[in-house]
Amino acid sequence: MKKLVLLFLFPISLFAQQPSCDILIRNGKVIDGTGNNWFYGDIAVKDGKIIDMGRQINFSSAKTIDATGLIIAPGFIDVHTHLEEDESKDPMAQSFIYDGVTTCITGNCGASNTDIGKYLHWIDSVKLSINIATLIGHNDVRKAVMGRANRDATAEEQQRMDAIVDKAMKDGAVGLSTGLIYIPGTYTKTPEIISLAKQAAKYNGVYATHMRDEGDSVTNAIEEALTIGREAKIPVEISHFKLSGQQNWGRSKETVALIKKAREDGVEVTIDQYPYTASSTSISTLIPDEILADGQDSIKARLQRPEIKKYVISEMLRKLKKRRLKHFSYAVVAFHRADTTYNGKNIEEINLLKGRKHKAKAEAETVIDIMIAGGASAVFHGMSEDDVKRIMQYPFNMFASDASIRILNAGMPHPRGYGTNARVLGKYVREEKVISMEEAIRRMTSLPAQKFQLHDRGLLREGYAADIVIFDEKEVKDISTFEKPHAYSRGFHYVLVNGVLTIDKEKHTGSRAGIALRGPGYDQ
Ligand SMILES: [Zn+2]
Repeated sequence: MKKLVLLFLFPISLFAQQPSCDILIRNGKVIDGTGNNWFYGDIAVKDGKIIDMGRQINFSSAKTIDATGLIIAPGFIDVHTHLEEDESKDPMAQSFIYDGVTTCITGNCGASNTDIGKYLHWIDSVKLSINIATLIGHNDVRKAVMGRANRDATAEEQQRMDAIVDKAMKDGAVGLSTGLIYIPGTYTKTPEIISLAKQAAKYNGVYATHMRDEGDSVTNAIEEALTIGREAKIPVEISHFKLSGQQNWGRSKETVALIKKAREDGVEVTIDQYPYTASSTSISTLIPDEILADGQDSIKARLQRPEIKKYVISEMLRKLKKRRLKHFSYAVVAFHRADTTYNGKNIEEINLLKGRKHKAKAEAETVIDIMIAGGASAVFHGMSEDDVKRIMQYPFNMFASDASIRILNAGMPHPRGYGTNARVLGKYVREEKVISMEEAIRRMTSLPAQKFQLHDRGLLREGYAADIVIFDEKEVKDISTFEKPHAYSRGFHYVLVNGVLTIDKEKHTGSRAGIALRGPGYDQ
């Protein structure tokens, strides 16, 4: 009897058709994005999805990737990017792909397209190498209705702004963003934002904020974000969580405690950071806010008036003193269109090159000259490593580049646009052991997917989109530096986006399989 069964089964197992897949990944260390330990395993990908995974699976496939010695993880989700207008400059999105990023959430810091439906259709038509989701940006909504007016919205204006956000959510935005240090965000009071956040909350969106202050008044700014979360009943994401200004170093103890306490009290708040001790923004942040209203012509006219110039210089010197600094060397010009020889030099250096006195007052004048000549983007070396690490150890902190798609050799941008994830995995996981590999990957994958409701991404699971990175944990490294920013990260041997091989043996294949991802309010 036994013999008969064996005889019967043997031929079937021999000749039964092996299931087929498009790409079979074999024998890697699978880190699935949950935060659980790695295990040795295989993954089968077909029609853009993960169709099977396990310790050993049996598939025939057109392409097999031997992942021996490599980590297999879900593609990274960068929750804080600024892609606007850069999508078509490099649709291969190499600065992201080479850093393991397969999905970007853009429209941050209050800046986005206001017609989200049109934008997402355009994204689908451009065909990028990465997936894109977007927030609707408050500053652009306000500008569309009120221009750069420095006042409260009227009831009618508020209604119009609410309607834009409502429509954006139906068109597929994943939430609302604010940039409250930028014009006209600085002019906006909390109730206006609560009203807009309520629109996003109706469609299960998120409220992502570049807060009003990340320095001396950071705790007030966190309280404002939490108030908006409570009042509008909306999940809060605090963007690029940091402590700016030497006088505030060490205060991450206080600010991370505030976040923990808010969660204990039932506020659904999470944070993100870029793993660097320098920030990057407009040089105009050195100038008092009230000077910056109404566009470049007005700014220029104001700064040329002697009494205003005198006031601006005194304010700049007061703030410098507060930072306990004698020079503006912590501010480095990244890109100044009017004179590109400034790019990469700090204000102290530029001031000396102009033949001016080696005094902070003369440096303040140099900044004003740069503003009059059209302004500049800048990198500010103003954070402490201890704060960066303390924020990193908070379990509900994600990593984000706060960057656009970098164009190789254009300007002197912040290196975070090239190296954020590789830096976390190389410097902070492998070298300094600040957090574990599994934990870092969870923060790059399932945590952002859960927060921004990207339901079929962020985990290695059957049925999930096949956004997959395969990298060498011993090699992974950010190469981009402040001095030489234009360099892709290393260590990512293979990257799949929607099941399409986009990095093959560390080289971009040219594939552009990314799609627009629409939020929970999207009307079919
Ligand atoms: Zn920002």
